[in-house]
Amino acid sequence: MGEFELIRRYFLPLAGRQESGSLILGPGDDCAIQRIPAGRDLVFSVDALVEGVHFPRNYRPDYLGWRALAAAASDLAAMGADPECFTLALTLPAVDEQWLEDFSMGLRKASEAFGLELAGGDTTSGPLTLSLQVHGTVEQGAGIRRSGARPGDLIAVSGTLGDAGAALDYLSEPAPSADMLAVLERYHHPWPRLDLAGAIRQYATAAVDISDGLLADLGHILSASGVGARIESARMPLSPALVRLKGEKALDCALRSGDDYELCLCFSRENWERAPESLKRQLTVIGFVDAEPGLYLDGVDCSLEAVPAGFDHFRSEL
Ligand SMILES: [Mg+2]
Repeated sequence: MGEFELIRRYFLPLAGRQESGSLILGPGDDCAIQRIPAGRDLVFSVDALVEGVHFPRNYRPDYLGWRALAAAASDLAAMGADPECFTLALTLPAVDEQWLEDFSMGLRKASEAFGLELAGGDTTSGPLTLSLQVHGTVEQGAGIRRSGARPGDLIAVSGTLGDAGAALDYLSEPAPSADMLAVLERYHHPWPRLDLAGAIRQYATAAVDISDGLLADLGHILSASGVGARIESARMPLSPALVRLKGEKALDCALRSGDDYELCLCFSRENWERAPESLKRQLTVIGFVDAEPGLYLDGVDCSLEAVPAGFDHFRSEL
């Protein structure tokens, strides 16, 4: 199968479904065209995922399609942006029609769930690698940055943390229990918190999505903002399934394992007071921003663990 036939069969069905989006020319020309509505900023990001580094070897292709777009969309949520469209560069070791069928199905489900339309892409041969660029928009000047945290701000996280990281222990479990299935679902089908984007851009002072673990990702906010933080382990939101599976180690999963794609947010006290219950209900306050540098967990400095771990990907192997 040639590249054009491959794209026509598996990827064109992901394009051109949204009627109200900003994408005015999708795949099939030299470039796509996106019209940015007056008064809005374009927010975009690219993610590269390599087999054996960012996802396990021989990982289910439908899960991979979902996870790849979810991870990319999570960065839009962290900026408070509304999703618009994405591009995909796909490097494949071979043209396996069943794999492509399943992968494009997972990708399509995610594209529909997150409101991200396929704008274009490229395919080539080589070790299995995906690069996804996501585009979103936000009202001019309203994009939430990592650098906006100020001393006294409250620190909150969405959802529960640690499930996806714990799931790594059960990926090849032959007869997973209900609790194992619950955390595995969080790993295979993460839901980026795009549902919170509209509210957090009104109220949050800083935001980051939790892809590498709470300590590491909160560390990004602290270094970008030039502040410190004090957080409490007793406040960490943990799912019942995680606590039953991991016992005392559940907290460790919540602090140090990634792939949850929840958000870590800072709020000035005034904004927190003003924020609607519908937002607060989905968040848990875990501590506050401090003028003194350092990331203190229950009074113990764990700043070293909060050093941005960008290069760790070169060492990790699943
Ligand atoms: Mg991110």
